[in-house]
Amino acid sequence: MTDRQETEIATADAQKATPTRKVFMRTYGCQMNVYDSERMNDVLAPQGYSATDNLEDADLVILNTCHIREKAAEKVYSELGRIRKVKEARALAGKDMMVGVAGCVAQAEGEEISRRAPIVDMVFGPQSYHRLPKLLDEAKSGKKVVETEFDIDAKFEHLSERAAKPVARRAPSAFLTVQEGCDKFCTFCVVPYTRGAEVSRSVKQIVEEAERMAAGGVREITLLGQNVNAWHGEGADGKAWGLGRLLYRLSEIDGLDRLRYTTSHPRDMDDELIEAHRELKTLMPYLHLPVQSGSDKILAAMNRKHTRDEYFRLIDRIRDAAPDIALSCDFIVGFPGETDQDFEDTMDLIRRVEYGSAFSFKYSQRPGTPGATMKDQVPEDVKSARLAELQELITAQTKDFNASRLGMTFDVLLERKGRLPGQLVGKSPWLQAVQIDAPEELIGTVQAVEIVKIGTNSLFGELIAGHHDSNGSSHGAIKEAAFDA
Ligand code: SAM
Ligand code: SF4
Repeated sequence: MTDRQETEIATADAQKATPTRKVFMRTYGCQMNVYDSERMNDVLAPQGYSATDNLEDADLVILNTCHIREKAAEKVYSELGRIRKVKEARALAGKDMMVGVAGCVAQAEGEEISRRAPIVDMVFGPQSYHRLPKLLDEAKSGKKVVETEFDIDAKFEHLSERAAKPVARRAPSAFLTVQEGCDKFCTFCVVPYTRGAEVSRSVKQIVEEAERMAAGGVREITLLGQNVNAWHGEGADGKAWGLGRLLYRLSEIDGLDRLRYTTSHPRDMDDELIEAHRELKTLMPYLHLPVQSGSDKILAAMNRKHTRDEYFRLIDRIRDAAPDIALSCDFIVGFPGETDQDFEDTMDLIRRVEYGSAFSFKYSQRPGTPGATMKDQVPEDVKSARLAELQELITAQTKDFNASRLGMTFDVLLERKGRLPGQLVGKSPWLQAVQIDAPEELIGTVQAVEIVKIGTNSLFGELIAGHHDSNGSSHGAIKEAAFDA
């Protein structure tokens, strides 16, 4: 019997059962893990599991982990310590609790996890979540499950079966994984080891899932991949498509107003993708394009395969195509061998590019990556001082960028209720949170909003009276608004 047949039988059996069990899911790390956690919940629902935020109530606990930096991995072990106490308390009350560790720590550390934390019943990597019902059955029969196969095709096939089923009404903004893994082997990064080689989902699978999402009320899709702009596939025309072409195809889907993608590598920004930013109204004017360092010496040591000048030229081409685009970035400070001058080169790059936002990290030695054994590791206090300086500059740039939206009118996708009564939270084209007073029935619509105040973490706006859902015209409207303001 194949894994899929076994999973289907387990699912069919469970569907007969009353949904009485609770799953507590904790997600660490990137959006790809968020997407995977949502899919694990989908797989568990027919097994009778509903989600809970209360650990004490959970019959099943899953930690969907991240291994990108040491801190992220260590958090998992401290959380397992807390879970052990709850599991013991439940056992005294005669109640079971199964514990699973999923994601990249599971992939990287395998059996070591159950050795360090014997309360763990299942360890499974990012390509195995669709097999959860089977893994759960094995664990319940007393077996310690460790599953770290790289069967990405089986996962994608499962996703596409799921996409063929009707979906319940969905939140207005959703993620859609189009690509997993990475072949770039930056010398600091564990992703090629934990997520495996680059694999793209087919055009058919992606389009079907996007159509289903749109039919279920999704108005904005963010395409996800560790290296999303390396996505490639064969189109309906039999030709090889890159991400740009895929975005053109997805923008034809009715009801889908907004497209985004993340995370991109500078080497894979091809002409068609840049042109898509010029031409597609649905493609939001926001791009996360990590450079990591502004020093050519460090870029070479990181194996980033581009220079700072090539990055500047790329940014010029992107801004020529989409002048109102907001750029975002990732930076690592304190990579082995980084001198004060190398760090200054990074600060100079940031001043020249002017980002709307950015993420920044102290270099973390990851076992098994080339960077971990490089000489000239940078002392922790130097890394901390550089990070603080860099973050101060980025914070100032983000503030300026947000302040530049004051008085502008642009389209906002209203996504959920805010903290205060009568308040809704939405998203600007540039991925900023926007708070407005508006009736709840406007959730899931795109509205023209005038920005009247700038807060620390969000913008505050007012609905433009009489304006209702500017379906499909968002980017065009924004462009005019942005330059009229
Ligand atoms: N694929 C993306 C790219 O090419 O930049 C990034 C993927 S990674 C999940 C997200 C970010 O984590 C990276 O851009 C990098 O800044 C950071 N990162 C990865 N490994 C790291 C390490 N060993 N130490 C500190 N930061 C790290
Ligand atoms: Fe990691 Fe991104 Fe480099 Fe791939 S391109 S190795 S995911 S940092």
